[in-house]
Amino acid sequence: MRAFDYVRATDTREAVRLLADDPEASCLAGGTTQLDLMKDGVLQPPRLIDITRLPLHGIERRDESLHVGALVTMEELAADTTVAERLPMVRESLLLGASVQLRNMATIGGNLLQRTRCRYFRDPTVPECNKRAPGSGCAAVQGAARMHAVLGASERCIALHASDLAVALVALDALVHIQGPTGSRTVPLTEFYLTADVSPERETVLEHAELITGVEIPLPPPAARSGYLKVRDRTSYEFALASAAVQLVLDDGTILEARVALGGVGTKPWRAHAAEHLLTGAPATTATFTEAAEATMQDAWTVPGTAFKVPLARRTLVRELQTVSGVTA
Ligand code: FAD
Ligand code: SF4
Repeated sequence: MRAFDYVRATDTREAVRLLADDPEASCLAGGTTQLDLMKDGVLQPPRLIDITRLPLHGIERRDESLHVGALVTMEELAADTTVAERLPMVRESLLLGASVQLRNMATIGGNLLQRTRCRYFRDPTVPECNKRAPGSGCAAVQGAARMHAVLGASERCIALHASDLAVALVALDALVHIQGPTGSRTVPLTEFYLTADVSPERETVLEHAELITGVEIPLPPPAARSGYLKVRDRTSYEFALASAAVQLVLDDGTILEARVALGGVGTKPWRAHAAEHLLTGAPATTATFTEAAEATMQDAWTVPGTAFKVPLARRTLVRELQTVSGVTA
C-alpha cells in the first residue's frame, strides 16, 4: 500500500475544508471498503481524512421520519426500535449483509458509497476497466461476469451496485443529506446514483469534498407490510445474486400502494417503477406479480455470464410479493 497522510477531523466543516484543500484526498469511515481498495492498489489517495469522530452518530425519530447520522453503524441501525417496529425491510437488508464484525465497523454513509465488487475493477493489473481508467474498455463483458449487473448495464460497464441497504432505502424514497464547501443540500436517494451505462467512472452525484451527513427515512403507513429477500450462493457473508425490497398496502385483496426495488441486478439500486405501476390498484395475485416482474426485467442487458439473472430476478420478486402479501395463488 502506498504511504499516505492521516488526519483526524473533529468537526464536519473542518472535514469538508480538509477534503476541499486536497483534490486527491479521500475520507475514511469504517474503512471496510476504503482500506481494502488501498491495500489492493486500486485507490491511492495521498491523504485520508478520518471522519469517525464527527458528530454524525445519532438516530432520531422526528414525527413520521427517522433521521440517521452517516456514522451510525449497520448493527446500530438494525438494533434501533423504530427500525424493528416500522422498517422491517431496512432491518432485514442490514442483517443479511456482510458479517457481524463488518456490520459493527461499517457505517451507513460508507455502505451507500461502497464500491463495486467487480473483480476486474479490484485488480489494477487488468488494463481494461472504464471505471478505473475511463476509455480503456471493460474486461468483465468478455470475462467472468456472474456477479455483475443486467439493469443499467452496457458494453461500457456492467459493475453491480452491491449495497443491500440502498435497495430498501431506494424503495422507501429516503433522502440523503449532504454537506459541502458551499453549504448543504438534500438529494432523494433515487436521484443520488448514476447508472454505469451512462458514467462508469462516476457512480453518484456527490462532488469531491462533499460529505454525506445523514439519511432521512420516511416511515411507512402503519398498515404497510414489507420485506427484503436476498438470493445468494451462500446463506451468509455473501453478496446478492438478486434481491427484492417490497412494501405493500393491501385492502381486501387489492393493492392500494406498492413500493418495489431490486438489488443484485443493477448498476445502481434499482427502483422498479414499472412494477409499482402495474401492481397499484390490481388484485394481489400471482398473475399480477408475474406481470410486474416481467415488466421490471424487460430492459435487461446481458452477457453470457449474467443471462441467468433475468429469470432469477423475476422469481425473486414474485416470491417476495407473495411473501409480503400472503398470497401464493
Ligand atoms: P469506508 O470503507 O470507510 O468508505 C467507503 C467509501 O465511502 C469511501 O470511498 C469513503 O471515502 C466514502 N465515505 C464513507 N463515509 C462517507 C461519508 N459520510 N461521506 C462521504 N463519503 C464517505 N455490503 C452489503 O450491503 N451487503 C453485503 O452482503 C456485504 N458484504 C460484505 C462482505 C465483505 C467481506 C466486505 C468487506 C464488505 C461487505 N459489504 C456488504 C460492504 C460493507 O457493507 C461496506 O464495506 C461498508 O458498509 C462500508 O462502510 P464503511 O463505513 O466501512 O466505509
Ligand atoms: Fe470496470 Fe465496470 Fe468493466 Fe468491472 S464492469 S471491468 S468496473 S468497466
